[in-house]
Amino acid sequence: MQQPAPGGRPEKDRSGAGSGAAISIRGVGKEYVGDGGRVRALLPTDLEIRPGEFVVLLGPSGCGKTTLLRMLGGLITPTEGSIVIGDRPLFAEGDTEPSRDALGSLGFVFQQATLLPWRRIWKNIALPLEVKRVSRKERRRRAAELAEMVGLAAFLDHYPRALSGGMQQRVAIARALIHNPSILLMDEPFGALDAMTRDRMNVMLQELWLETGKTVVLVTHSISEAVYLADRIVLLSQRPGRIQDIVEVDFPRPRPLEITKAPRFGEIAHHLREQLGEA
Ligand code: ADP
Ligand code: MG
Repeated sequence: MQQPAPGGRPEKDRSGAGSGAAISIRGVGKEYVGDGGRVRALLPTDLEIRPGEFVVLLGPSGCGKTTLLRMLGGLITPTEGSIVIGDRPLFAEGDTEPSRDALGSLGFVFQQATLLPWRRIWKNIALPLEVKRVSRKERRRRAAELAEMVGLAAFLDHYPRALSGGMQQRVAIARALIHNPSILLMDEPFGALDAMTRDRMNVMLQELWLETGKTVVLVTHSISEAVYLADRIVLLSQRPGRIQDIVEVDFPRPRPLEITKAPRFGEIAHHLREQLGEA
């Protein structure tokens, strides 16, 4: 589903979208093998994610959300199946390592910001550019641009300790975007924040997404966060995870926070709660 372009939304980022899909997940599953034996975390799963789409992976704790997202990010290897990012394979069937080519299209945000406390904010944001030998001036310029987008323009020269948890997570988002990936993968990025901060972060993230046209895959176990943010909610079942349901959310953008009080919002949330066995 393509979004309309309220307020002159720019063209979506279609880099590498030769096959049409931003991410193609084909028969991807994961079984962990360790001292405790084998744990089947995710059954073979198929999913196509469209360029510029905002997809939320929702499900109970332990259902394999992080497992799937980490495979999409090339951080762990699928037991079976293949993942294609745009027109570049990230994992072909049987690969034990991700392809470097495809990794460049991906930015990853974890639940914890994990900033380096001895580095100023701009240097935390620009960290990934240092290994690429980008000049200091250019790093600073790009960091300032990203800081502006996440509402941190005034904090470039501060240290992380001066920032609240929400602000630190904004830094982590800026850092994930510094190499201009077309896809942003987020694992419960706001899970450690209080409810009000979380609402503000959701509003900021929606704006950022509308502005940049990135493809976003976000993991959460918050139903209301899922319904507020998503174009499409992929509901995973209890372990071993599999896709139990896919719910399209077609509220127009940008969505005001008050939309959480709309009857239709409540209906979708109720449906999800039922599916999750919480109703
Ligand atoms: P979620 O993010 O939905 O809470 P995870 O993907 O983290 O779920 O985990 C899915 C299942 O896989 C859980 O049962 C978890 O205990 C198991 N698991 C996760 N990581 C490992 C690992 N490295 N080794 C063994 N089992 C794991
Ligand atoms: Mg998780």
